[in-house]
Amino acid sequence: MKQIKLYLKDDFKSWDTDWKDVKPFRILSVSDDTDLWERAIRLDDTYYTICAKQGENYQIEELPSYDLNKEETFGEDEIKCPICGYEISDSWECEDDGGEEVCGGCGSILEWNRVVEVTYSTTVKEKTRAIRL
Ligand SMILES: [Zn+2]
Repeated sequence: MKQIKLYLKDDFKSWDTDWKDVKPFRILSVSDDTDLWERAIRLDDTYYTICAKQGENYQIEELPSYDLNKEETFGEDEIKCPICGYEISDSWECEDDGGEEVCGGCGSILEWNRVVEVTYSTTVKEKTRAIRL
C-alpha cells in the first residue's frame, strides 16, 4: 500500500502556488500499482481527473460529466470526449482530418474526425445591365 494525497486544482491560487501551501483535499491509501494518470477517479459521487502530479501528490479537477453510455459528440470546437466532457485544446494542431487520441480526462480512446464546412464568397468581376423591354 502507498499513501497518496489529492489536492483540488481550485485550491491552487496560481500556476506557481507551492504544493506545501495547499491543504490536501483527501489523503488515501491505495495499492502500490494504482496508476491514476489519464483515468477518471470517482470519489463519493463526483468524478475527477488528474491535472498535475508531484511524487504521490496529485492535483485533481472535477470532470464536466461522466457517462459511459454517451458515445458521440457533434459540432464541437475541439475534440471532446463524449464520456467525460474533456476537451483536447488546440485540436487544430492534430495532423490529418481524423485519427485517434487518448482522452486526457478519462483515458478512453477516442476516434475523431475533422468536419470542414465548405462556404463560398463571391465578388463581381464584370457587371452586365438588365435588358429593358
Ligand atoms: Zn474522457
